[in-house]
Amino acid sequence: MGKIIQLDESLANKIAAGEVVERPASVVKELVENAIDANSSIIEIELEEAGLSKIRVLDNGDGIEQEDCLIAFQRHATSKIKNENDLFRIRTLGFRGEALPSIASVSMFDITTSTGEGPGTHLHFKGGVLETNEFASSRKGTDIIVQHLFYNTPARLKYMKTIHTELGNISDLVNRLALAHPSISFRLSHNGKRMLTTNGNGDSLQVLASIYGMNIAKKMVPIHFSSLDFEVKGFVALPEVTRASKNYISTVINGRFVRNFTVVRAIQEGYHTLLPIGRYPVVYLEVRMDPLLVDVNVHPAKLEVRLSKEDELYKLIAEGLKNEFQQKQLIPTNQPVR
Ligand code: ADP
Ligand code: MG
Repeated sequence: MGKIIQLDESLANKIAAGEVVERPASVVKELVENAIDANSSIIEIELEEAGLSKIRVLDNGDGIEQEDCLIAFQRHATSKIKNENDLFRIRTLGFRGEALPSIASVSMFDITTSTGEGPGTHLHFKGGVLETNEFASSRKGTDIIVQHLFYNTPARLKYMKTIHTELGNISDLVNRLALAHPSISFRLSHNGKRMLTTNGNGDSLQVLASIYGMNIAKKMVPIHFSSLDFEVKGFVALPEVTRASKNYISTVINGRFVRNFTVVRAIQEGYHTLLPIGRYPVVYLEVRMDPLLVDVNVHPAKLEVRLSKEDELYKLIAEGLKNEFQQKQLIPTNQPVR
């Protein structure tokens, strides 16, 4: 008798959840990204106890058809890619089909969804097990409620930091998603108290003002550089505004908020000696490129991507910023880009 067995689906989902669902902020990220992919114009996020007792994400997007709804909770079930070709030209935030089954396996999970045509669907899962499947309101969009996250994975629950830290992570994340999607109205509240509202009118500077306050937004200037392969747009704060951490540098690559070391280094090089040692600028940069030049399938939470032609991008940003500050006569001319 052999020793190797195929794990059952519910156990496999819990294992996947270990990677995809690290903390409440990961749940918010996956659910909000799904809402963005579904063409929503309003996304409302309600939290209780920093998401540990409740996370609700309500959108007015496309919704899920009744016949698809249960399938969406199977592993690797997605409407976003179909074949290998699509994997190299990803235009949506999701594509792995892992989030819904993973999150549902470690929580009490409710989804109410409708395409707006005919009745909607309500499903309730407990620890990944389907307990309710019924007709629901036909309001177009999707309403997901995740309660008691990690109730059945005590080790993970123990690992959670304070409410303050977890909430900080979620708030940072929603800020960045809102920045990356100025045409969507985001509303974030915690224990009934509103933390962020953006109006979805497409104006990134207004989103920056909602996040960092009017005083900082007033000190931010628009930038726009392009090269053969890249287009870089965004807002950078004048060097008089600095912060003690890199957290105020947000980079969005093809609509996806990511951490990218090269871009951050290029930004620092662009500011060069204008920043005091140990201080960082406030920057929002959006980079667009052919999806063929970026591999988004390298990180479990898709927080990092691999870029081709990083050197070209580095130069574009570093030199672009230097020129910008030179034109504003903030730095002397003829400083070579290293
Ligand atoms: P992925 O986003 O990688 O496709 P998910 O597990 O996050 O995988 O979601 C599975 C599928 O469920 C998605 O491909 C999409 O078709 C559907 N879906 C999930 N959330 C929403 C939503 N808020 N609105 C509409 N469809 C959704
Ligand atoms: Mg998804």
